[in-house]
Amino acid sequence: TSVPNITLNNGIEIPQLGFGVWQVKPFETKAATLAAFEIGYRHIDTAQMYRNEQGVGEAVAESGLDRGEVFITSKLNNGYHAHDDASKAFDRSLEKMGFDYLDLFLIHWPLPDIDVDFVETWGALEEIYASGRAKAIGVSNFQPAHLRRVVQEGTVVPAVNQIEVHPFLTQDEARAANTENGVATEAWSPLAQGLVVESPEIAAIANAHGKSPAQVALRWQIQRGDIVFPKSVTVERIRENFEIFDFELSEDEVAAISALDKGHRTGPNPDEFN
Ligand code: NAD
Repeated sequence: TSVPNITLNNGIEIPQLGFGVWQVKPFETKAATLAAFEIGYRHIDTAQMYRNEQGVGEAVAESGLDRGEVFITSKLNNGYHAHDDASKAFDRSLEKMGFDYLDLFLIHWPLPDIDVDFVETWGALEEIYASGRAKAIGVSNFQPAHLRRVVQEGTVVPAVNQIEVHPFLTQDEARAANTENGVATEAWSPLAQGLVVESPEIAAIANAHGKSPAQVALRWQIQRGDIVFPKSVTVERIRENFEIFDFELSEDEVAAISALDKGHRTGPNPDEFN
């Protein structure tokens, strides 16, 4: 029951299940991340915007784990899309975490209507990648049209595109565009911020397997091949969300969960968010 790795398009391996720390308060982040490490998580998803990178770095330092045993992702904050701002913001992330490299660094949002073109921002990430200070670079919340521009106009193909995906927003089109371009899909808010536990369909499947609705929703994503990092600050739930490799959903169950799609976003529409 160990977490499988996914090989990204540059050969770097990422654990398919990680721990997300959005909305984990800065002062709680070190403890929550240490709890996740204790349970067995080796992949943490943070961002400059979450204001808790330092807690993640402190947890890595205190965990006794080697830097190479953990996979750490951060993301560029929205105010720093200009080339030089992006480089400096990346350096500040390393400093806050006390690392000399990140495993993965993402453009957090495309911001299609601001005066800096995200292709310029991508150029800054390509330089960071070339310097070896990020083992992989990628994007987040990129719609298929945004992704195609980066692929066509850039020199490095993003390793991942981190987008909102859960049973109520299955993202068939965006996931297909990622796959066509050799880009792995990371599914954010995999529990739809907790909403999945209210679904009677998911509850029925959960009962049939003696698992919880959250476990079933995460298992559905694992079997579809996406990378996930559910968030919780409750140790029992952090553990529950990790115990998803001792059962398997049938093809019919996967299809039944996919059929719950209703285009429901918990977050902003990336085309409109600037
Ligand atoms: P999530 O879908 O992981 O849901 C988390 C919430 O679900 C918790 O706060 C809790 O209320 C509930 N929950 C957690 N475990 C549960 C369990 N076992 N049973 C019942 N309820 C449970 O939500 P999220 O935090 O929005 O998303 C996960 C991660 O995705 C974030 O921490 C962050 O790393 C990433 N993310 C990225 C973006 C982006 O723009 N790139 C946006 C949102 C989230």
